[in-house]
Amino acid sequence: MKITNVEVIELEMPFDRGVSKQGEVGFLNWGKLDFCLIKVETDAGITGWGDAFSFQCRRAVAEAVKHMVAPRVIGRDPRDIARISHDLQRALHIFGRYGITMFAISGMDIALWDIASKAAGIPLYQMLGASGDTKVPAYASLFRYEDPELVADRVNHATSLGYGLAKLHEIAVPEVRAAREAGGEDLKIMVDTNCPWTPEKAREMTLAFAEYDLHWIEEPINPPEDFRALAQLREDTGVAVAAGENACTGFEFRNMLEAGAVDYAQPSVTKVGGITEFRKVAALCESFGVQIMPHSPYFGPGFLATLHLAQALPNPGLIERIFITPEADFYPGVYDPVDGVFGVPSGPGLGIEPDPDLIKTYRV
Ligand SMILES: [Mg+2]
Repeated sequence: MKITNVEVIELEMPFDRGVSKQGEVGFLNWGKLDFCLIKVETDAGITGWGDAFSFQCRRAVAEAVKHMVAPRVIGRDPRDIARISHDLQRALHIFGRYGITMFAISGMDIALWDIASKAAGIPLYQMLGASGDTKVPAYASLFRYEDPELVADRVNHATSLGYGLAKLHEIAVPEVRAAREAGGEDLKIMVDTNCPWTPEKAREMTLAFAEYDLHWIEEPINPPEDFRALAQLREDTGVAVAAGENACTGFEFRNMLEAGAVDYAQPSVTKVGGITEFRKVAALCESFGVQIMPHSPYFGPGFLATLHLAQALPNPGLIERIFITPEADFYPGVYDPVDGVFGVPSGPGLGIEPDPDLIKTYRV
């Protein structure tokens, strides 16, 4: 089997934040959901779908796929995944081991695993060594609202849907207090800060949040790769630390784990180097005794890939379901857990094909 064509499909999709102040809340001026889909065709008639991380960087990632990744895979056997991953990383190392280049490689890798599983006629999780019986528990990953009342409202909505865990994306005490008051004692609360602080400020804020009983604090320090400072924060505060969505490849995770930087490691399949590197990270985490917590605030093939990977882990952790509503369901029925647990599609490959009409509607 040979790869005959690679098509990059860019989508933009409006979404609902679930609060009345639609345009005024949130971060990074996040207006629409970006998708950078990768459609890989073969001479065997099998098509694979990949998903490169592209929030706020879609055009750059799409160009990287088109001009840096695609020419290096056309003509190769798509089932030769480990070597293609290695060859792409070696050829492109000079253009960034962390960031856009690895997002592009990640998207291609997901498409190759989709093709390989379809060629074998089995779901991806089976390809990864799982029966499909693992329970994959979900947590609600709330948007940033910067308003205690809105936080309380969204926490109440999450618990009414059966979520037992809610992650905030807030950076101030009143919002964290509001979440605890709304959620009561039983709700597990995580706070994801997205790398805002110096180590000193992070210590002060983590201790202030700790009063409201955090399950973990996520990425409190800038820059994200200051693993020594994260390790010190763990020691100083006693609060569990989660990080990893900004780390790519098993090598950066090795550095993170060796530094003792995290209690929870968060590889993102559309960023870390795809399914191939995610598995390396999972094996490292197991050997370091660190729990994996996949980063997955997206709705395309990357979300399905995360569910399949979680199926194949002995202890999959919790799967992130970003608590916004896209205008259209990319994969209907996949995003809403039942009794706090996700179902995993059992068709060949990723299990569900994208709807061509939806692609037509949202294509840029
Ligand atoms: Mg995060």
